[in-house]
Amino acid sequence: MRVKLVAGNWKMNGTLASSQALVKALLPPLSALKRAHYAVCAPFPYLAAVGQALRGSDVALGAQDVSQFEDGAYTGGVSGAMLADCGCRYVIVGHSERRSVFGEGDETVALKYAQALKHRLTPILCVGETLAERESGVTEEVVGRQLNAVIQRCGLAALAQGVIAYEPVWAIGTGRTATPQQAQAVHSFIRGHVGDRRLAGSLLILYGGSVKANNAAQLFAMADVDGGLIGGASLVADEFVAICSAAQGAKETVKT
Ligand code: PEP
Repeated sequence: MRVKLVAGNWKMNGTLASSQALVKALLPPLSALKRAHYAVCAPFPYLAAVGQALRGSDVALGAQDVSQFEDGAYTGGVSGAMLADCGCRYVIVGHSERRSVFGEGDETVALKYAQALKHRLTPILCVGETLAERESGVTEEVVGRQLNAVIQRCGLAALAQGVIAYEPVWAIGTGRTATPQQAQAVHSFIRGHVGDRRLAGSLLILYGGSVKANNAAQLFAMADVDGGLIGGASLVADEFVAICSAAQGAKETVKT
């Protein structure tokens, strides 16, 4: 069975106090939801405090990025070992904002993925096309290329040790969500791209891009959608809990 996962990406938002308050509001309702997995990806400076607030709960801690380097003279970098030290279980790699604003290419993302695995973190690998790419009909080519960079560096089996998040760039933070059918089509392509039936069947593929309480259930009901990576809505406790409840309500998918 693939158990659904909902991860919040808090991005560069909040304060220490607001982060702690958000966890405090999330924990009682989330602790009652046992049929899916949940995580929050906090800003680096708050990881330790958020980890402390999550202690004893089933909600996992995640970070939003990791250095492609092991350690040393990389001012501003945060290594996989440091994230593991702070109690992180997950780390997002290759988010479209990292790719477009910070210029991270496929090879850098693949190196980050490798670092995450090396330090026993579960990478959440973000892939997705821009609006121009979708309109030119190259969505599968772009997503395939982003996946291949990781497969070539880390191997096919490594892909199944992580989580994929399909995040169409045109849907992130725009309020324009992919339809459940559009998401399903790309998720199904991703599973097919992996080739190996057993690996593909165990791969968790999240959808991200303007998921809200009012559209989560329809997205999570699709056969190849195994949960969500949630940006803006993860900052509002009631909204995030409602999205998590939608994952709880959705059926677990039998591996093919
Ligand atoms: C994200 O940043 O990963 C994301 C999905 O953002 P939003 O939910 O705000 O579109």
